[in-house]
Amino acid sequence: MDLQAIVDDIVRELEPRLGEGKVADYIPELAKVDPKQFGIAITTVDGDVFTAGDAATPFSIQSVSKVFMLTLALGKAGEAIWKRVGREPSGTAFNSIVQLEHEHGIPRNPFINAGAIVICDLVLAGYKPKEAIGEFLRFVRYLADDETISIDGAVAKSETNTGYRNYALANFMRSFGNLHHDVDHVLGVYFHQCALSMTCAQLSRAGLFLAAKGADPISGYSVVSPKRARRINALMLTCGHYDGSGDFAFHVGLPGKSGVGGGILAIAPGKASIAVWSPGLNKVGNSALGSVALEMLASRTGWSVFGA
Ligand code: GLN
Repeated sequence: MDLQAIVDDIVRELEPRLGEGKVADYIPELAKVDPKQFGIAITTVDGDVFTAGDAATPFSIQSVSKVFMLTLALGKAGEAIWKRVGREPSGTAFNSIVQLEHEHGIPRNPFINAGAIVICDLVLAGYKPKEAIGEFLRFVRYLADDETISIDGAVAKSETNTGYRNYALANFMRSFGNLHHDVDHVLGVYFHQCALSMTCAQLSRAGLFLAAKGADPISGYSVVSPKRARRINALMLTCGHYDGSGDFAFHVGLPGKSGVGGGILAIAPGKASIAVWSPGLNKVGNSALGSVALEMLASRTGWSVFGA
């Protein structure tokens, strides 16, 4: 299978559609991004890399970072995290508060904002916010094998200044006792995590352990156990695209995690880790062209987990 030809074709075929969707503007700094960009990168479990389009342009990975913070939290607190966050798709928007009251401040899953904020609270245990952010950054640099990856301070600041909804979620959960640290500290970690800036090439490399039973096939190091990798993939498949998760499974059929910066990390277990990026979002806040590109890729490679 000629993966380079496949990614080149996808870029060529999507060229006339560049700019589709709507760039997230509720975080003012993200509204500045040129919508007419598209990148794709595939890192295979054999260590081969295939890129096309704007695959070397850094972008704000936003909620894609929730996969890496969840991995870190599982390493730190283990299965105990499931007492404080569920594992069910929410069927509601990424920043929704509606289910939290009935469910006593326990978010449905770790990938909606409320769940990711609880995960930050768990990682913060025993640390100052700066230390937790530093640990997170070191972890992603280690996964991507790239020391140049950084956090975009302007994006973090922009979201700190306008993250009213996230403050509401955090305060609400704190009132139920499901946040143990100062709300400003927890959100400080969360906003910096979301402001991580990466290229498609770096992101596909960082996700590779999830395609290879939890071990990095290039360095040989074990990141998580095979069972844990399988479970993170299951959560990505069922919850990674919020209220668009069913549709993403229907069209693409791969575990995936989206972010409002327009990035998506998708995992083809046993085969490859794929990152796509295009800033324009569809109605549920997932990259419009990114989703189309992954559907094209899945159908041309036969990589859907549900069968070719
Ligand atoms: N930082 C964003 C927020 O909290 C992340 C949302 C997303 O990427 N879906 O609103």
